[in-house]
Amino acid sequence: MSMQKPWFLRLALPTPLRRYFDYLPPKNIEPDQLQLGMRIKVPFGKRTLVGILIQLHHQSEIPLEKLKPAYQVLESEPLLTPELLKLGLWLVDYYHHAPGDIFLSLLPTLLRQVEELKTNQRQSQQCYRLTQVGESQIAETSSSLTQKQRDILLWLQQNADVSSKAIQHAQLSMNIVKRLQKQGYIETITLQTSVVIETPPTLMPEQEVVMKQIKDDLNKFATWVLDGITGSGKTEIYLQLIRLVLNEQKQVLVLIPEIGLTPQMVSRFQQRFKEPIVVIHSGLSPKERLAAWLDARHHKACIVLGTRSALFTPFSDLGLIIVDEAHDSSFKQQDHLRYHARDVAIKRAQLLNIPIVLGSATHSLETLYAVKQRRFRYTRLTTRAGLAQLPSISLLSIRDTRLHEGLAPKLIDAMGKHLAAGNQVLLFLNRRGFAPSLMCHQCAWIAHCKHCDAKLTLHLDPRQLRCHHCDRIYPEPKSCLSCHGRQLIPLGLGTVRIEQALADIFPHHPSIRIDRDSIRGKALETAISHIHQGKAHILIGTQMLAKGHHFPNVTLVGIVDGDSGFFSSDFRGAERMAQTLLQVAGRAGRAQKPGEVIIQTRHPEHPLLQALVNEGYHAFVKMTLTEREQAALPPFHSLALIRAEGTQEAPLHDFLNQLKAIGIKINRHAIDMLGPIPAPMTRKAGKLQFQLLLSSPKRSALQQFLHDLLAEIEQLPSAKRIRWSLDVDPIDMC
Ligand code: ADP
Ligand code: ZN
Ligand code: ZN
Repeated sequence: MSMQKPWFLRLALPTPLRRYFDYLPPKNIEPDQLQLGMRIKVPFGKRTLVGILIQLHHQSEIPLEKLKPAYQVLESEPLLTPELLKLGLWLVDYYHHAPGDIFLSLLPTLLRQVEELKTNQRQSQQCYRLTQVGESQIAETSSSLTQKQRDILLWLQQNADVSSKAIQHAQLSMNIVKRLQKQGYIETITLQTSVVIETPPTLMPEQEVVMKQIKDDLNKFATWVLDGITGSGKTEIYLQLIRLVLNEQKQVLVLIPEIGLTPQMVSRFQQRFKEPIVVIHSGLSPKERLAAWLDARHHKACIVLGTRSALFTPFSDLGLIIVDEAHDSSFKQQDHLRYHARDVAIKRAQLLNIPIVLGSATHSLETLYAVKQRRFRYTRLTTRAGLAQLPSISLLSIRDTRLHEGLAPKLIDAMGKHLAAGNQVLLFLNRRGFAPSLMCHQCAWIAHCKHCDAKLTLHLDPRQLRCHHCDRIYPEPKSCLSCHGRQLIPLGLGTVRIEQALADIFPHHPSIRIDRDSIRGKALETAISHIHQGKAHILIGTQMLAKGHHFPNVTLVGIVDGDSGFFSSDFRGAERMAQTLLQVAGRAGRAQKPGEVIIQTRHPEHPLLQALVNEGYHAFVKMTLTEREQAALPPFHSLALIRAEGTQEAPLHDFLNQLKAIGIKINRHAIDMLGPIPAPMTRKAGKLQFQLLLSSPKRSALQQFLHDLLAEIEQLPSAKRIRWSLDVDPIDMC
């Protein structure tokens, strides 16, 4: 670069503005000392911020005299890899979100601060072990080892995976250990509970086919949809694919939906691989997260297993991405940058030209539609591993049936039979608390939250009313707030109510309740092991119980309310309900015992329910896809939702109407605009929410439209006074 021509740094800075910022280079820095992705400290108004270098260039729209010099470059090597930078640029484009927010959220929190990276922040415990070369050196009689070196190798042969502390404790020299490591006789691994590495089982014929298909395609980008019922051996496929990729000296990223699923996945992985694994989830401390991040970046970790945010881990040699339970809605982030980890993972695989495997028993309609369009490749497992049989699913009509605390006599009978045979029973109800509403017997008044458009749920222990939307707590009223009547009746069913009823019906069968109230933090692990030990015979639970866990002795699953999702206002309600039903059903009959699933419903003739139960998920998907196509909904149309939030209705309306007017003006591509309409829950935690729904059969047209629209919105004075947000591919309409 010529010395005369001025050059500028274009930075992403942590501000909500959808733009980049230009600075002059820091003093004494030449352009060739700078690499994109480096963190740079700059003045910003009265503050000092850390930004990410996105571009070096020669033209700025800002006059030279107004530009300020950056303070300092924070590292000699960029923290964000070129690949993550590219992914970041794609995120900016696709989600139309503020670049600063995006690029900085690609970094662990400790690196977003105004500090240089201190290498002693690395936390992970290194352990020493003998390599195979080291092992053979011991046997070698003619080896050139000194006695001290030999002693250390022998000692390590006896004591696998020891920390440097233990080595020093045994009065062995760390210097010699380090030298032996350089010679390749000793290696370090990140500490894990040391376990015996198991040999993988022989694949079943169906698994063989799947394995061969994907294996032949491992060296390039492809999106593989692995469609396999619960227990069909999908995880085994992941494990064997990972083995192949690790053998090529590459790394693997595995995304799973819930933190609750991590411990058992982690132990399954640790039993299989001696290679270091790091786990990334929201429960990590900032230091732990940074350590995991750096381990992956420097290929100290071979496998990264984590929830949504693990998607943005940097790798030096990523070779495969796996998304387990890929249909799960927790892969979508619901605030700030509203990304869908499944979709972004596919983009990342594409940028890296590596394969990605999406696994599920109940893939989303988006995924299955992409298969139909041949954008994704499809492979399937239909039988359960081992001798396990699929449960039989039946509908139990509860119309005109006298229910006992929500349970039909036939379901209670069936429970009795399974319990008498010494098996466990699982009841699923996705509503916690005792009763989801409290009503006055005289005037039908219902207790509502003062801050939300929502009924209050009655909880016992302590007895109080709670809002499940804003978490506010109210004392239980002694009388009706409308007519002062004294008879208030708890209406409807929550998990606590079922738990109480069952204690009366089956006094000799202990039960356990698993929901957000009964389980906090590590308690889930304890509860699960309690169930495995057979200490509880009846399991009552919400969504929390539906995912991932294997309960080999559960032979009956009862779905207390099979209707809720099918009649919800959200067009994805039925899809979610079907996925949940099958997920819960999948808990039954996993061992040698065949399982049974009973779904209580008031609408046994509902065609979608019929299709699901009698013909299976794919028949259900086919019908639902037809409905979606007719209604111009995803996956046929692409959606974006603009939400505006405030305490007064009028300004929200005005703002969204202004947007709509701009939209009509720039609308060259036939984008449908619906709204402004109130959000399904208009008032939540004291805030009103209105929305404008944009839709188009062409994703690219919608993207272009959003780009143009946002440029105009940024100019609107009202946009600065109102809280508003854009959600591309919204999955939750409220
Ligand atoms: P999924 O991930 O589809 O639910 P898993 O991979 O967890 O299925 O397999 C279900 C059960 O079957 C597990 O206990 C697993 O160890 C076992 N399994 C899977 N594949 C095989 C195989 N080829 N041989 C023997 N057991 C297997
Ligand atoms: Zn009343
Ligand atoms: Zn509330």
